[in-house]
Amino acid sequence: MPDKKRYSHPSNDKQQTILFDCEETPKQAEESSHTASIEELNNQNRRALRRIDQAAQAVQSMRFISFGSGSSGNCAYVGTDTQGVLIDAGVDGAKVFKALADNGITPSMVKGVILTHDHGDHVRYAYSIARNNKHIHIYCTPRVLNGIFRRHSISRRLKDVHEAIFKEIPFTLAGMQFTAFEVSHDGTDNAGFFVEYGSQRFAIATDLGCITPRAHFYMTQADYLMIEANYDAAMLDAGRYPEYLKNRIRAENGHLDNKVTARFVADECDDRLRYVFLCHLSNDNNTPEIARHEVCAALEAKGRRTTDGEGLPDPDSDAVTVVALPRFDTSRSFLLKKRI
Ligand SMILES: [Zn+2]
Ligand SMILES: [Zn+2]
Repeated sequence: MPDKKRYSHPSNDKQQTILFDCEETPKQAEESSHTASIEELNNQNRRALRRIDQAAQAVQSMRFISFGSGSSGNCAYVGTDTQGVLIDAGVDGAKVFKALADNGITPSMVKGVILTHDHGDHVRYAYSIARNNKHIHIYCTPRVLNGIFRRHSISRRLKDVHEAIFKEIPFTLAGMQFTAFEVSHDGTDNAGFFVEYGSQRFAIATDLGCITPRAHFYMTQADYLMIEANYDAAMLDAGRYPEYLKNRIRAENGHLDNKVTARFVADECDDRLRYVFLCHLSNDNNTPEIARHEVCAALEAKGRRTTDGEGLPDPDSDAVTVVALPRFDTSRSFLLKKRI
């Protein structure tokens, strides 16, 4: 039987249904001499549609670069093709902007710095970055700003470039929508961020001791997830840290154990997950290999394929790219694309 498609005619009061028959009609037979040109037009239409699809995907791609991750300093760029923001300011601006320039990103494309909390490894260079780039303001909650002034000897003029944000209230910056959410850590008013760009969702949660319900709500929806994998429990147990420090790291408002991160990623995250960036790895109680192995093994046990993303990207792959972010160095630039 031929395919029949039904169309309702909106201008007809009786909503008459027109049957469109794909069988060849006498009129179509008359037009058979035009078949070749119609075929060619159809091919042209298909090619045009493919180009529009590709353009839409290009528009929707996101970029991610990390300039350092861990207790020595944290800063990352999240952006679109044309603009972006820095998440945290714990890495010297000179290094950050040099690395951005190497990737074709000018200072004017950076629309702001968003801070997760007030620990020095996340805020140390906030004022100098804003002072050297007049258009860049600092986005954080009022409590984080007060925490910065309380904990650090940083210029009070940081107030002049402060833009107040509040948890659970979305704001738009650099064409992306950001929502700050509560995370469990021992800084002041600690936040993770849920970033939406088109249909893409990027969840960022660095420095957290456990995944509380609100963080879980956002992080499980991610296509791309930056999540802490701070320590290997056996290495921490056997390590040289004093007991009080070990307990602070293990606490629910401390840092995340590789195994907790791995279980969360494999058991809780949505199937849409495509990239996992493991961040804030301890230099003493972890290695990139161990952290990555834990997460990949947990995902593979659930039937997901994993990759380090070093090979040619395969747009049809449903594999999860798992990357342990370098502690001191700049990562490569990741072009994040979602299958449509
Ligand atoms: Zn930190
Ligand atoms: Zn911290």
